[in-house]
Amino acid sequence: MPTLTLDELKIQLKRAAIVVAALLLVGAVAVVVLWNDRPSLASIDWPHYPTLEPTVDAVSVTWLGVTTLLFDDGETQILIDGFFSRPSLLDMVFGRPVQSDAAAINRAINQYRMRRLAAVIPVHSHFDHAMDIGAIANRSSASILGSETTALIARGAGVPEDQIVLAENGQEYIFGQFTVTLIESAHAPIGWNGATPYAGDIAEPLVTPAPISAWRVGKSYSIIIEHPHGTTIVQGSAGFLDGALDGRQTDVVMLGVAMLEGLGHEYTEQYWQALVTTTGAAHVFPVHLDDYSQPFGEVVLFPRMLDDFTTIAAWLEEFRERWDSDARLHLLEFGKQIVLYPQASPEA
Ligand SMILES: [Zn+2]
Repeated sequence: MPTLTLDELKIQLKRAAIVVAALLLVGAVAVVVLWNDRPSLASIDWPHYPTLEPTVDAVSVTWLGVTTLLFDDGETQILIDGFFSRPSLLDMVFGRPVQSDAAAINRAINQYRMRRLAAVIPVHSHFDHAMDIGAIANRSSASILGSETTALIARGAGVPEDQIVLAENGQEYIFGQFTVTLIESAHAPIGWNGATPYAGDIAEPLVTPAPISAWRVGKSYSIIIEHPHGTTIVQGSAGFLDGALDGRQTDVVMLGVAMLEGLGHEYTEQYWQALVTTTGAAHVFPVHLDDYSQPFGEVVLFPRMLDDFTTIAAWLEEFRERWDSDARLHLLEFGKQIVLYPQASPEA
């Protein structure tokens, strides 16, 4: 074998470096192109939910992206999640420490008039649901209701103990005319080999800034929000436990759909049956369909390479026809207050 001189070796290394750089560049361009290839909601033609001006005692809900939902009956407000700080994609990818964005939270609280918050209830404790609960509770007298992990997130943010309520599975909690029940459920199995990402609990009060991986999942819940006018179930993550909702009837399901495409058609059908067929829901609103690395207020679907909501939407239509032809699918509009149970409302 001929030996290379030092100069020849340098030339060979230089060529190899150019090839590697070119491959990295092509790879980077491909990722950027694929990242920006996103489906649009425009192709979905589900019927509009009847829109009414909220009257004094109507129950309304306002969707504020991901699974953040503000319920209001004119007297009492209940906030599911409350995710207003939006760590950037780079924060997430590189595990940079993040913390609640005080300005974003103040703006959202003002703009959506959260003056009567009685409870802040995250569907589970991942950052895209629970990272702002402490900051919100500290700006109100609201109770935070959730798992041990949720409580430690609240403590880390300095929320007073008398505003922290540990949820017991199946127990009813009363807030004004609302009765809220948390039923233990499962997180969507979207991690490696069906695992839950950032699984487990946290052991100490969560002090921020911290990387997003610090917000462990804790417990995942189906949240049942009953009111004399009607009932809504919020399922934040697309997981389910067989039989957990047996005997629970509801008017509305807020159905977390993130990453269902990757979980597959069969899984999604079982999920539909567990959440919609079992509960007899008349109206189904998908939530958690928007890319949560976008700024608060911007609803952009996930890139096709991660999760195609238009495929999931077609599956949901199919399951509706097969199992629950009386149920209706609707899209929520960001920031728009809708009356949830128009049949119980005086003008309907
Ligand atoms: Zn999650």
